[in-house]
Amino acid sequence: MRIEPIPAFEDNYIWALRGMGPVGRVAVVDPGEAAPVLRFLEQTRDRLCAILVTHRHGDHVGGIAEILAHHPAPVYGPALEAGDVITHPLRDGDRLTLQALGIDFEVLHLPGHTLGHVAYYRKGLLFCGDVLFGAGCGRVFEGTLEQMHASLARIAALPAATHIYCAHEYTQSCLGFARTVEPDNPAIAARAARVASLRLAGQPSVPSTLADELVTNPFLRWNAPAVIAAATARLGHPPASDAETFGAIRVWRDSL
Ligand SMILES: [Zn+2]
Repeated sequence: MRIEPIPAFEDNYIWALRGMGPVGRVAVVDPGEAAPVLRFLEQTRDRLCAILVTHRHGDHVGGIAEILAHHPAPVYGPALEAGDVITHPLRDGDRLTLQALGIDFEVLHLPGHTLGHVAYYRKGLLFCGDVLFGAGCGRVFEGTLEQMHASLARIAALPAATHIYCAHEYTQSCLGFARTVEPDNPAIAARAARVASLRLAGQPSVPSTLADELVTNPFLRWNAPAVIAAATARLGHPPASDAETFGAIRVWRDSL
């Protein structure tokens, strides 16, 4: 399987998954914009076999109707946010098999950014939409901070070698906040240098690995003494739980 980003809008990535068979087949994840996907399909001559949706925000689903007008395909997405565009609603624990690509995914329901948000996992990779970003996480628009923490904890429990395919190029600004939370974390400084040179060269900073996120992402580091200390300073008392530590850091980020 080959995965490549189709850049969209200012800083979105629509992920294209291509099979290895003789006839090019491709699935796309979160096509918020039609034009770049239509161009990609024209250039590669690959046939669209599926659209995967993580959540209902416009910058993830806005291109679907126009893409389907040219390339009919099944649309998989969260049952709780099915609306009119999703033809195959999915729930936590469902298995999604893309026969044309010879791959399958486990569906994880990860509420918090939106209530229905799902992610697509298979050994080695996760399409996580707006739950996790490089060194950051999505805003908690619909769920509670506790729900978002529980969703992130499920990601944190995946194998550390898992590649994290998020939907936005936000890593650099997220690392700025990570440094504010943990100014003395050398892994954050090293990652910031790495990401700066990638971005200078016009390269994406994603996918990252979960291993990378676990040592640099303040929204997965509720166990780190420096993050607990930062949360304590924000709250005015020691956090009573991992979720409260996470919540204090998320609220801090929202206030900036
Ligand atoms: Zn979103």
